Amino acid sequence: MSDGPPPLLAVADALDRVLRGLAPSQTEICELQDVRGRVLATDIAARLSLPPAAVSAMDGYAIRAADCQAPGASLTRIGESAAGRPWGGSVAAGEAVRIFTGAVLPDGTDTILLQEDASAIDETDGATITVNEVPRAGQFIRPAGLDVTTGDIILTAGTVMSARLIALAISAGHTEVSVWHRPHVGILSTGDELVPPGGTPGPGQIISSNAVYLSSFVAACGAVPVDLGIARDRPGEMLSCVRAAPVPLDLVVTTGGASVGVHDHIVDDLSASGTELGFWKIAMRPGKPLIHGRIDDTPLLGLPGNPVSSAVCANIFLRPAIARLSGGDHRPQMIAARLAIDLKANDRRQDYLRATLEYDPQGQAVVTPARKQDSSMISIYAGANALIVRPPHDEARQAGDMVMVMPLDPLL
Ligand code: AMP
Ligand code: MG
Repeated sequence: MSDGPPPLLAVADALDRVLRGLAPSQTEICELQDVRGRVLATDIAARLSLPPAAVSAMDGYAIRAADCQAPGASLTRIGESAAGRPWGGSVAAGEAVRIFTGAVLPDGTDTILLQEDASAIDETDGATITVNEVPRAGQFIRPAGLDVTTGDIILTAGTVMSARLIALAISAGHTEVSVWHRPHVGILSTGDELVPPGGTPGPGQIISSNAVYLSSFVAACGAVPVDLGIARDRPGEMLSCVRAAPVPLDLVVTTGGASVGVHDHIVDDLSASGTELGFWKIAMRPGKPLIHGRIDDTPLLGLPGNPVSSAVCANIFLRPAIARLSGGDHRPQMIAARLAIDLKANDRRQDYLRATLEYDPQGQAVVTPARKQDSSMISIYAGANALIVRPPHDEARQAGDMVMVMPLDPLL
């Protein structure tokens, strides 16, 4: 006796199973200026210290604090240290060296007397400098290695490189680093009704938009999209298209053909030789017919055909999958937001409601679900900037309750 439909695989378990089989394959050496978004394959140790020697943090005079104990003390200027032009001598009692920001601190000095706290007869060596404001001993000196010390591990394997991390590695003496190879992701649309972008749909036809969305998505995630075209709704067609891929693939993504209709062939195709069907139904809305499998040795993610379902599943499954194949890790950032309207109790599927996230004048996040949640409506998804994530069987919520929200990447 059954008391309801069979349990569906939970989203978190499905994601675990997708990620378990994925790992980055090869590394390559890349110029640092080209690695934004790439994942480091090794730790990086600093080759240089920053600053390489003690330097001044201000414009003024490099002095000995012992010489400047009271206002009115006077010193003799004996040279100048500017950025890139250190002063080579040694400073004795009663002497000062004119110094500028970033210039090396001369031997014998221990403090910077600010330009504003002194008066000088003129800007020549031999000039008398009068101390107006007694400096704090040691002030305005950046010691050697303040920022980075040679040999320090400044970046660790698995780090996603950003412009600021590139600047750090460059400053520490590197020009290139070892990064994981960008995964190649094949994208295949399925459906007899699909017309390639730019075509004119005939009766019953629509423009295929999923592949364009996914290609853009894949590229934004740092992988290389590989267009596998459109497979028609015939048994074996999906397999032939995937096997005809122009380059070796690290992952195949299909859209459509994932349900139980007589024209849906992806699941059946995954029982052919060299293929494997992992799971194909998960407790998620939109996106219940999500397929995980393998063709020859390439993992396959079969996304639903409805544009919003495939896009939401791309955020939940494809993005972490690409991160894993790229040597990194991606976990969606979730925030708590106040609900603007009431919501009915949820059923057994984890729900991802298209929504608008805003901040009220107090800086509190407020989220409003779209009134229509039909998974075919690309216009609703396009206008949303967040997804409200509701766990299975979440109780009814009232306006003002806090809910968990996943902001959508503004470029995706
Ligand atoms: P399917 O899962 O194949 O039954 O597709 C579900 C819905 O998504 C159908 O209404 C399809 O027309 C639509 N669909 C499938 N593939 C695409 C695509 N590449 N672009 C836009 N809509 C699609
Ligand atoms: Mg179809």
